[in-house]
Amino acid sequence: MRTLIKNAWILTMNEKMQEYKDGQIVIEDDKILYVGKPKEFDSIDNIVDAKNCLVLPGMVNTHCHVSMLPFRSLQDDCPDRLRRFLFPLENACMNEDLAYYGACYGTGEMLLSGITTFADMYYFMDKVALACEKMGIRAVLGETIIDQPTCDAKNAVEALKIGEKFIEEWKHHPLITPMLAPHATNTNTEEIFRKAMEIVKKHDTLMMTHVAEMDYEMTYFRNKYNMTPIEWLESISCLNQHVLAVHCIHINEADIQLMKKHDVKVSHCPVSNLKAGKGIAPAKDIMENGVAMGFGTDGASSGNTLDLFIQMRMFAGAQKTKYHDRSLFPAKEIVRIATIEGAKALRIDEQIGSLEVGKKADIVLISLESAHMFPVYDPYSILVYSANASDVKDVFVNGKQVVSDRKLKVDLSILREQLQKEMKEFSKKAEELSK
Ligand SMILES: [Zn+2]
Repeated sequence: MRTLIKNAWILTMNEKMQEYKDGQIVIEDDKILYVGKPKEFDSIDNIVDAKNCLVLPGMVNTHCHVSMLPFRSLQDDCPDRLRRFLFPLENACMNEDLAYYGACYGTGEMLLSGITTFADMYYFMDKVALACEKMGIRAVLGETIIDQPTCDAKNAVEALKIGEKFIEEWKHHPLITPMLAPHATNTNTEEIFRKAMEIVKKHDTLMMTHVAEMDYEMTYFRNKYNMTPIEWLESISCLNQHVLAVHCIHINEADIQLMKKHDVKVSHCPVSNLKAGKGIAPAKDIMENGVAMGFGTDGASSGNTLDLFIQMRMFAGAQKTKYHDRSLFPAKEIVRIATIEGAKALRIDEQIGSLEVGKKADIVLISLESAHMFPVYDPYSILVYSANASDVKDVFVNGKQVVSDRKLKVDLSILREQLQKEMKEFSKKAEELSK
C-alpha cells in the first residue's frame, strides 16, 4: 500500500532541520519511503493533497494518565486535590471499563490534536493498550506502582507482578512499548524501586516516575536523608538511562549533572505545573546540559486538554519569563521538543520523531486556512504562537490515516456516549465529595 502526500510544506525535524516548501512524502505500508521534492512514483494507491498545510512528524506526548479523562474540570482550584479527590475517587470508582473508555476518548482527543505517540502511567494497562490498538495510536505504557492499595492491586508487590506480566504480553506489539511506572519517589519504598529497576533492566525498557514535583516530596527527602529525590535515586542505584523523570520542577544544578551523567530523560509538563502553582522547571539548564527532554500533557485532571500546542506556548512564556530572555527557546527549538526530542526522551527516536526515509509513517498535516494562521513568515512560530488543536487536519500513525479532514476514523460522539455511560457512578461520587 502506497500513499502520496503532495503539495506539502514539509518540516522534517531531522538533524539538519531540512524543509521542503513544495515537497512530497510517499508512505509504503507503515514506513516513510520518500521525503523530498516532487518525483514520479509507480503504484500509488492513495493521494492526499496537503495544499496550504504544514506537514510535520506526529507530536510526542511524554507523560499522560489518559484514563483520568473523567476527572477533567473537577475541583481544579482545590488545594491538595490529589489526596482529597483523585485517590479516593480512583479507589472507589475506577475499574477496567472506565479505564478503557476513558482511554478511547482521550486517545481520540490526542489524535485530533496531532499527537501520534504518548507515554502513560495508570492502572488496567492491558485495557489502555486495547484502547490504543482500537484507536490506532502509538503508546509507551506502564502500570502504576504505588505503596498503597489501588483500584487494581492490593499493594506495590502485586502491582509489580501485574506490571511485569503486562510487559511480557505486549512487548512485541507494533504500536505498544510496555514499561513500568513507579508512581513517585516519595510514594514507594527503596525496595520497591530496586525491584522495579530490576524488571526494567531485564526487559530493557523505561521506568517512568514523578520526580521533584511536590514541595512535601522535597521536604521529606531533605529531612529523612538530607538528599534531593534525584540524589536518593542515585544512592539506591535507580538513576540510569532507563529513567524517564517526570516534572523535575525542583531540581538543582547538582541534580542536573547527575541526570546528565546517568543519561536520565525528562518529561516536562508546563501547563500542569503552572496550573497547580508548583513552579517552573529549569528547562534551559536541563537542555543546555544535553539531557533529553520532551513535553507532557499530564492527565486531563492536571493539564486539562490533551494537546501539545498549549504546552508549547505556555512553555515559551514561562521559560522566557523565568530567565528574563526573549531570545531563549526560539520557536524552532520548541517544535523540536514536541517532536524529535520527545521521541529521544522515550528512547524511540530511531523509529519516530522526524520525517525521514525508513522511519515509521507518523505524520501530521496542519491547516493554514484559519484566520489566526496568516501570514506565515516562520512556520515554527505559527505553530508555537498561533496554532491550536483544531488546525490539525489529517493524521497518520504507522502508515494508517486515523484523522481525515479533522474527523477521527472512529466516531467521537459514540466514544463520548460510551464514556458518559461508564461515568455514572464516578460522577455521582464526585458530586458527593464536592459537597
Ligand atoms: Zn503525572
